[in-house]
Amino acid sequence: MPPPFLPVAEAKETKMENQSAGISRRRMLQAMGLAAGAAWSPMGAWADPSDSAGAGGNQETKLRVALMGLGSYAARVAEAMQSCKRARVAGLISGTPSKLQEWGTKFGVPEKNRYDYGNFDRIKDDPDIDAVYIITPNALHRDQAIRVAKAGKHVICEKPMAVNAKEGQDMIDACADAGVKLLVGYRMHFEPNTLEVIRMRKAGDFGNILFFQGLCGFRIGDPNQWRLDKALAGGGSLMDIGIYAINGARYMVGEDPVWVTAQQTKTDPIKFKEGVDETVQFQLGFPSGAVASCLSTYQMNHLDRFFMTGEQGFAELQPATGYGPIQGRTHKGELAQPHAMHQTLQMDEMAGILLDGNTPVVPVDGEEGLKDLKIIDAIYAACDTGRRQELRPG
Ligand code: NAD
Repeated sequence: MPPPFLPVAEAKETKMENQSAGISRRRMLQAMGLAAGAAWSPMGAWADPSDSAGAGGNQETKLRVALMGLGSYAARVAEAMQSCKRARVAGLISGTPSKLQEWGTKFGVPEKNRYDYGNFDRIKDDPDIDAVYIITPNALHRDQAIRVAKAGKHVICEKPMAVNAKEGQDMIDACADAGVKLLVGYRMHFEPNTLEVIRMRKAGDFGNILFFQGLCGFRIGDPNQWRLDKALAGGGSLMDIGIYAINGARYMVGEDPVWVTAQQTKTDPIKFKEGVDETVQFQLGFPSGAVASCLSTYQMNHLDRFFMTGEQGFAELQPATGYGPIQGRTHKGELAQPHAMHQTLQMDEMAGILLDGNTPVVPVDGEEGLKDLKIIDAIYAACDTGRRQELRPG
């Protein structure tokens, strides 16, 4: 049976991909005379069979992930990973010794797999870690990702991947040079109702897409938090929450924009200092002629809505990007895919990408992250100049 949360067509594809990946891997192990004992891990390390997923003697290894930055989102990821079938928390990186102790005990991470920001390059010699998941303030992602890549581990990085396109490109180059993969924590790319709308769009159910609207925002609290510090956040609401509208416009419409216009408004210049945007409205134009109109804000609550209309139908998601359940409807009726924790789905699917070479329905690689960063750069440039910015497609 396909996993119940996937649309049937995509579940079939995924199952076929998993099966073929499983067969080729088993064949390879058999050819090496190893199928019954040790299991291969993606970084070339030999994993203890006790790491294998499933209690029934399944020799598939789980993706062994070190979490970097033990803040609020990492806590959600760590909890969600307790339900993963293909991934587990295997390492921790933090500047706070008490957190390493507490999380290590809670998630069963031995002391030898705990690191701080000064010594985590030593993860290079740690055979128990396959990938590092960077969940720190945005402006730290670039340098941390480059260090992880140099240590020979796959990089999973939270959104925004970096604070501008140049830094994003540096990360892609470093991972390519080191021969490791770079993935971005785009959890919506694995969310079942979102995937159902994408499946319907690909099937032509909406006809030619004409218009997308993305409203993303919340009223931010503590004025002293890193999200309001340009040096750590790289910007303001656009970096943090507006990126969902940018990314959503691309996966809902199914194209990359070729132009951007944008306007910024600021009602509280004390809280939202120079370089930290409070509210940005932006418009995107796509090669087909479809257009998007989006709002990103740190000053209004209850904004989490996508609407898309085509020549033959519409889709509406509200909430569209929160932790769920995601709800919505199309011209054909209510969307009714079952809810599961997004981070559990994401990490299981990312294990399939990193361990088996699976291809997700919507990409989550560095190039995908870079596309959003180029659009963010263009939106800020449009706000500053008041002029439309052209983007090269792809
Ligand atoms: P947070 O403030 O709760 O946690 C950040 C962590 O980074 C803390 O543990 C902090 O100690 C650590 N840190 C390391 N160096 C630091 C420094 N120099 N200054 C400040 N903190 C430092 O933030 P968060 O909400 O967990 O966000 C972390 C990242 O995750 C961000 O990039 C954010 O955009 C992303 N995020 C993604 C989602 C999602 O749904 N995908 C949700 C929330 C946050």
